[in-house]
Amino acid sequence: MPELPEVELYCRYFAGHALGRRVAAVRVLDARILAVREHVLRRALIGHEFVDVRRHGKHLFANAGTSWLHLHFGMSGDLAFYRDDAEAPRFARVILDFEDGNHLAYDDMRLFGVVDVTPDPDAFIAAHRLGPDPLDPAFRLRDFRQIVSKRRGAVKSLLMSQEIIAGMGNLYADETLYRSAIHPRTSVDALSEAEVKTIFTNMRAILKEAIAFKSRGGDYPGRYLVQHREEGDRCPQCGGTIQRTVVFGRTTYFCAKHQMLPRRKK
Ligand SMILES: [Zn+2]
Repeated sequence: MPELPEVELYCRYFAGHALGRRVAAVRVLDARILAVREHVLRRALIGHEFVDVRRHGKHLFANAGTSWLHLHFGMSGDLAFYRDDAEAPRFARVILDFEDGNHLAYDDMRLFGVVDVTPDPDAFIAAHRLGPDPLDPAFRLRDFRQIVSKRRGAVKSLLMSQEIIAGMGNLYADETLYRSAIHPRTSVDALSEAEVKTIFTNMRAILKEAIAFKSRGGDYPGRYLVQHREEGDRCPQCGGTIQRTVVFGRTTYFCAKHQMLPRRKK
């Protein structure tokens, strides 16, 4: 399921293939993916060249002059650039035909994604009350401290709430807490100042690392929790046992030995 690092790679893919290309036609193969009327999507893109692409959290925005194409990748969204129509992906929902004969398909088997148009990404972010992007250089520890100080509930829920921090999903929230040695159910108001800093640092480090090794086509290293998401597996950090639970309605993995709830600490 695409989270911030995956969407960052889609962003780079879009930049590498679609920027500088002019849209000649828009083919909607399955209108269920649209959050915009089909004629509005066509009017926004046809005859326009993509000149910029940016990301906020799990959202991609591509500037085509006065409008921005907005993509959300849901559970299974993907992009495919190709020349020959025979290479169109199986679950292409929208295909952009470029003037130079190439194509860009938005592919989504499960249809939880969104193809949309917005006049202004910043207005969209504000209207949907998306929190700051954790990799935005302007997002600092003091901002994170301020966010945390206003919240209660499980720390994992905080990390996954898009209106608090935009971009983290189930996998990277678990990974961040695993590296931070904090139990996912720990109450936010029980976190020490040092723990808040640790979460902030690890969250950003993990997202950057994930982008780096995914951009090289590699897999997650073995020291990552994601390689051990199985109940009873051995923790590569401390040899403890990996356990499964449910937090924020999502299957959550953690190490029973080095991620203890505060009340169980000495
Ligand atoms: Zn452990």
